[in-house]
Amino acid sequence: MKAGNIILFFVLVVLIVIVIYSIATKDNPKVFYTKMKNFNARTIPPMGIFISKGQEQNNNLLKHELIHWEQYQRLGLLGFYYEYFKGEENGYDLNPLEIEARQRTGENDFAIYNYTYAVRNGLANTVYNPDFNP
Ligand SMILES: [Zn+2]
Repeated sequence: MKAGNIILFFVLVVLIVIVIYSIATKDNPKVFYTKMKNFNARTIPPMGIFISKGQEQNNNLLKHELIHWEQYQRLGLLGFYYEYFKGEENGYDLNPLEIEARQRTGENDFAIYNYTYAVRNGLANTVYNPDFNP
C-alpha cells in the first residue's frame, strides 16, 4: 500500500466512525461533565453536550443545551453550524439560536437579549457565572 492510500484509508475509517457515532447519538446526545471557567456549557454536535463541573444538578442549563441539540436535529449538522455562526455576526447575545434557547427555557425579557450581562450578574435563571465570557 502506498503512503497516500494508507492516509486515505484512515481518513475513511475516521469518517465512517463519525457517521456511525452521529447516527447513534442524534436522538440521544451524550452529556459530558467537564471543567470550564468562561463557559457554563457547550453543545457540539455530533459529539454531545458539555456541561461545566458543578452544574450537574442545573436542569435549566441542561434544558437550554437540549434545545441546541433539537436545533441540530432540525437543521442538520452543517445547517446547525451554518446558522449558529451566521447568528454570531450579531454577537452572542443576539444570536437567534441562542435567543430561541433562552426563550424556551423561560428567561426573562431582559436576560433573553442581554444574556452575558444577566449571567455575570445573577439575573438569568439558567446560571450565574461572574466569569462568563462567551
Ligand atoms: Zn446556548
